[in-house]
Amino acid sequence: MKSVIDNLNLIEEGIKSLCESKNIDFNSIELIGASKFRDIETLKCLAKDGRVTVFGENKVQEFNSKYDESLTWDIIGQLQSNKVKYVVGKVRYISSLDRESLAEEIERQCIKHGCKQKCLIEVNSGDEDCKGGLSVDEVEGFIESLKKYPSIEVCGIMAVAPRGVGEVELKKCFTKVKEIFDKISRERSEFEVLSMGMSEDYLIAIECGANQVRLGRVLFGDRP
Ligand SMILES: *Cc1c(COP(=O)(O)O)cnc(C)c1O
Repeated sequence: MKSVIDNLNLIEEGIKSLCESKNIDFNSIELIGASKFRDIETLKCLAKDGRVTVFGENKVQEFNSKYDESLTWDIIGQLQSNKVKYVVGKVRYISSLDRESLAEEIERQCIKHGCKQKCLIEVNSGDEDCKGGLSVDEVEGFIESLKKYPSIEVCGIMAVAPRGVGEVELKKCFTKVKEIFDKISRERSEFEVLSMGMSEDYLIAIECGANQVRLGRVLFGDRP
């Protein structure tokens, strides 16, 4: 656990110094723990420290087995419609909303449970075919189509960066997402989360306007 806190100290130092040089408000940036494969005791300890209190899980099965009401959770991985029933009402955000069939099922489960569900739209900023997520050009139309699902509150975007590209290309991708985020957030006050950046690229993402980063290996160490 000590090493996780050491890692977090270093991460915060790096972000603070970037924020100072780029005139970004450090306190506006949320660090969430990408907690796949990490045990619940580690997460509880980390939450006690108070700086990382939200955990993003990829798989519903793993989320279910770890779920603890005293922590705050997001679903950040691809979500199958038939698993929606296990997460609605239990997670803060479903961060991987990327298709209408998924929205339909979220709406159905919300009605059943008498709750609302906050969601982020997943954007594949590099337009790679192999991954989930909408392309930047599809985001506005998709949000428009979500009007049919009044239980869904659309709170922002989660973008996944293309792999193996250089910093210049990465910045281009993140900046494109930031532009569409700004456009939509001007029209919708509750549209306020821009989640971009993981262990390899969180500083670049923050520089490009991310206000949430999802940290796995850089925080917890290499995956077991
Ligand atoms: C695993 C994961 C992360 C964190 O990955 P690291 O590179 O280990 O920081 C972030 N976002 C999503 C969607 C993930 O699946």
